[in-house]
Amino acid sequence: MQQSMMLYVHIPFCIQKCAYCDFLSFPTAEKYKQAYIKALCAEIETWKGKESDPVSSVFIGGGTPSILLPDELGEILEALQTSFHIEKNAEQTIEVNPGTVTAEKAYFWRQEGINRISMGVQALDNDLLKTLGRIHTKEQVIESWELLSIAGFQNISFDLMMGLPGQTLSMWDETLHQALALHPRHLSCYSLILEEGTPFFEKQAQLDLPDEETERQMYWHTCRLLSEAGMQQYEISNFSQPSYESRHNTGYWRRKPYIGLGLGASSLLKEQVRIKNTSDMELYIRHSADREAICEERQILTLQDQMEEFMFLGLRCTRGVKKSDFLRLFGCSIDTVYGKNISKYLQYGLLQQEGDIIHLTERGMDVANQVFADFLLN
Ligand code: SF4
Repeated sequence: MQQSMMLYVHIPFCIQKCAYCDFLSFPTAEKYKQAYIKALCAEIETWKGKESDPVSSVFIGGGTPSILLPDELGEILEALQTSFHIEKNAEQTIEVNPGTVTAEKAYFWRQEGINRISMGVQALDNDLLKTLGRIHTKEQVIESWELLSIAGFQNISFDLMMGLPGQTLSMWDETLHQALALHPRHLSCYSLILEEGTPFFEKQAQLDLPDEETERQMYWHTCRLLSEAGMQQYEISNFSQPSYESRHNTGYWRRKPYIGLGLGASSLLKEQVRIKNTSDMELYIRHSADREAICEERQILTLQDQMEEFMFLGLRCTRGVKKSDFLRLFGCSIDTVYGKNISKYLQYGLLQQEGDIIHLTERGMDVANQVFADFLLN
């Protein structure tokens, strides 16, 4: 049976590195940018005629894809169009940094069929933005949002961060209100995580981070306020107006097959193989037309791996997991594999069962990582 799939395209360039960021991205070097685009197109073209399943979602992420000039992005989009069968109504998202949006780019994205914007806003307080090492101001967020709206974008999502240095509950409340005033269709609200190797990690003792209790309050406040504003929570950290859930991210949580293209990109192929491209820029640029040569990791997922992923990715979503899906996919009932854990968390009030569906309760969302850890079979 023909199944649809998704594409992720990685653009590993940024104007400058943010103080908390451990994503695979580098400050832009023109020399690399041109060579990378050529190499990326060469990798994309290795799929020509090889993949017949239609593509239901394309996500151009980074890094900062909005750094690319229209001609540069145009080359990549053309390579995608000629190598894959992208459905007419596919969700096509580009990640943008508000410091890099221009009217020309916004019109170009729209004209090229991009229909969803994921904007890295993170904060709406200029002092905080400076502390985070972001290149933009609050005013640029508003200006970018206006340019994108004028260009015809209706589906705009903001990424916001809580638990930031010096941030109080009332500052976070103010951020949410300011964001809501712009009527985004979708909000992703993540807590700051101190990642090893970042400037924030090195100087964490001096950061004046909110304590754990304040951070929990920020999270609950987010759920409450966004629900009052008509945005439904469909995943632990993601909220949307009705029917504006990110199809791409939902696909990841549903374990839909995807092909990752570009430096360090991961794929989940339908025969349950996980592949990761090299993170070595020189190697990628030299050998991108040879998929074997740029493959850094290849993992064949066992049935157990697949069951674990099904559980902890599925439970992230408020609609939970379906017992009938587990049976169809793995040929055995969910209760024979996870019955003991499910009963335990039903009793604790962290899981709830409604007919065929098992999902986290509000309290369960709060301690989700602990619950997920129990669904690992080893
Ligand atoms: S713009 Fe995004 S990818 Fe680039 S350094 Fe900042 S957080 Fe990382």
